[in-house]
Amino acid sequence: MNPDLENYTPAPDLLKDRFILVTGAGDGIGATAARTFAHHGATVALVGRTQAKLEAVYDAIEAAGGPKPTIAVMDFSTTQGDAYQSLVDALQEQFGRLDGLLHNAGILGHRSPIEHYEIKTWLEVMHINLNAPFILTQTLLPLLHKSTDPSIVFTSSGVGRTSRAYWGAYAVSKFGTEGLMQTLASELNNMRINCINPGPIRTAMRKAAYPGEDPTTLLTPADIMATYLYLLGPDSKGISGASLDCQ
Ligand code: NDP
Repeated sequence: MNPDLENYTPAPDLLKDRFILVTGAGDGIGATAARTFAHHGATVALVGRTQAKLEAVYDAIEAAGGPKPTIAVMDFSTTQGDAYQSLVDALQEQFGRLDGLLHNAGILGHRSPIEHYEIKTWLEVMHINLNAPFILTQTLLPLLHKSTDPSIVFTSSGVGRTSRAYWGAYAVSKFGTEGLMQTLASELNNMRINCINPGPIRTAMRKAAYPGEDPTTLLTPADIMATYLYLLGPDSKGISGASLDCQ
């Protein structure tokens, strides 16, 4: 973990009155992030491709007494421009602004050498992991500009900084994510724009990447939430263009 976050204790109401959108909010790290943000006072827009999973997170937030979230079902592999705009219009009507945007949805693709990497999978991974966050960011910027303390967080990976054999489109999409974050951060000085690298975390994606691994040896999504809260909340004021490790 980053040195200044080792002892970070987020205030219970850190995200009170903030509107935060989380992609891939139905499972894994995104589901835990959405519940954690709501626990700290945020009204969360749950975005993902599987309605039943989003509804389960919605129910968990309501049962815990958090602010009533909203749900938008979007499959980033097929979503077109008008659906992005519909999301913006709905958020404009419901919230009037956006204070936080966590780009978390992602897919692994398959592990194989570039020489044999399936082109169809390459295009799909690049689209979901990199193109969709670009389009979503661009369409949501007008709402983020209306916040007094906006923060955008992209999700990177260790292989998005130093690649390894067979990580193919996933690694390249995460390099692109780091580049998108840096470019945007150098263009906009009225908002925080950063990356998070979760490190190895006990989720379905990790299991798909390392099927033989004992999952009990890994941290859970709940274990890494301090970094997410830090970047989405006001305590990270002045931090932009950074790529933080959770572990
Ligand atoms: P999971 O596979 O557990 O969750 C991914 C989420 O993204 C799911 O909610 C999934 O929806 C959603 N998603 C996938 N494809 C689409 C799509 N086409 N449209 C909309 N939503 C989609 O992964 P993790 O929680 O492990 O990963 C979260 C992020 O963290 C990813 O960006 C990943 O690259 C990154 N990361 C994870 C690491 C780890 O060890 N777990 C390590 C480094 C980075 P659904 O459930 O409906 O399929």
